[in-house]
Amino acid sequence: MSFTVAIDGPAAAGKGTISKAVAAHFGIAHLDTGLLYRAVGARVLDGTDPEHAAQTLLAEDLDRNDLRTPEVAQAASKVAAIGAVRAALVDFQRAFARRKGGAVLDGRDIGTVICPNADVKLFVTASADIRAQRRFDELQARGLATDYDTVLADVKARDARDMDRTEAPLKPAEDAVLLDTSALSIEDAVQEAIAAVAKAKEPS
Ligand code: C5P
Repeated sequence: MSFTVAIDGPAAAGKGTISKAVAAHFGIAHLDTGLLYRAVGARVLDGTDPEHAAQTLLAEDLDRNDLRTPEVAQAASKVAAIGAVRAALVDFQRAFARRKGGAVLDGRDIGTVICPNADVKLFVTASADIRAQRRFDELQARGLATDYDTVLADVKARDARDMDRTEAPLKPAEDAVLLDTSALSIEDAVQEAIAAVAKAKEPS
């Protein structure tokens, strides 16, 4: 039987960590859909046309080791505003969501567009300052030279692009459980997410 968990939210709110932990806890598959847009963005930076890049995306494109760079993140949010790019990625995401045993998908439009009938939807947020600080710490730990103000400006630019686009803008689904991680430890945020999913799994 399929059981779909949709986890959406802005950059660096903690979605990735929470999604992996929820998937591991319930023993279900996980798809980081941001990686699809990052892989398209990386191919566009290489000179490929965005629509063509999305239509011909291969599994190995997701294994590139430059997908987590700030340049690729910005390129991803630019290609993500193109309707034809989003359309080319829909079927893959929906097929993943229907996997036997269940699936967790995290992204921006999973609960609103990709899986509007998901069994449980979470919208994970945190203030822009806190998200920028987390992303700055992460980039520093990976040895990538950057400064906090640049990271904050990047986070805000990506938020604006993701929320203001006409195609599948970032917003909570009406029936999403809101999880603000600004003042939560990662352990507490994970426990709250697991509790919300466990509640949805209970027979009604
Ligand atoms: O989640 P991540 O930061 O890796 O996503 C990179 C970019 O891909 C986002 O800023 C957003 O523009 C886009 N994206 C999207 N829809 C998704 C997942 C990611 O538009 N479901």
